[in-house]
Amino acid sequence: MSKASLTPLVILKRYTTFAGGSSYKLLRVCVYIVKKNRAKLAYLEKVVGLQGLEMITRLSKNELTDLQIAEETGCNINIVRRTLSTLYERRLAFYAVERDKETGWMLYRWRVDFEDIEHRLLADAQKLIAQLETWLDGELNTVYYTCDSRCDRYTFEKASGYVCGYEFVCPICKQRLYHDDSSKQMDTLQGKINELKTDERAIFYPENLSIFELAYSLQE
Ligand SMILES: [Zn+2]
Repeated sequence: MSKASLTPLVILKRYTTFAGGSSYKLLRVCVYIVKKNRAKLAYLEKVVGLQGLEMITRLSKNELTDLQIAEETGCNINIVRRTLSTLYERRLAFYAVERDKETGWMLYRWRVDFEDIEHRLLADAQKLIAQLETWLDGELNTVYYTCDSRCDRYTFEKASGYVCGYEFVCPICKQRLYHDDSSKQMDTLQGKINELKTDERAIFYPENLSIFELAYSLQE
């Protein structure tokens, strides 16, 4: 049983198949694969978390039950189940059901298959970026009011209406409300979205953690 520690190289080895050819061509292929794998790894980590990723890297190719996977990988059974179910939702894990001849219980034998990961990754990235754009659109088309403590943000209707006692006062801290000018942040966000559109995978990269979290928080 392999209990390799979770280093990018270990994980890359698992997913990488090198094409033959001249060393220059090979180098280019390697760079391409590393870039692609970087996105896949970042995506997988976002989807199943670090512990789930650790389970995946220790997993053999055999079809096993969740208990057997926990034993093989040394991972907690709850993490194994959560990871399998998350991968199943994204069609990256599959199971076959059979009846245990001795106990009569149903056995679920799992197989993890990343054949389709590129499609999943891109579909999820596009969804997140579209959500960011919709949200940004709403921000640009709405005037918000807030107080010095930034208790909340209020639309003009709320700030000038019954919510704030009809007089632009924060109902929480009773300070004055003023126009919350977020145009600079929105410009930065728009720039980031434009950047992401040229490489949608990048939304999963660690350096874009805050933008990923923002997009993720916009999900229903
Ligand atoms: Zn306030």
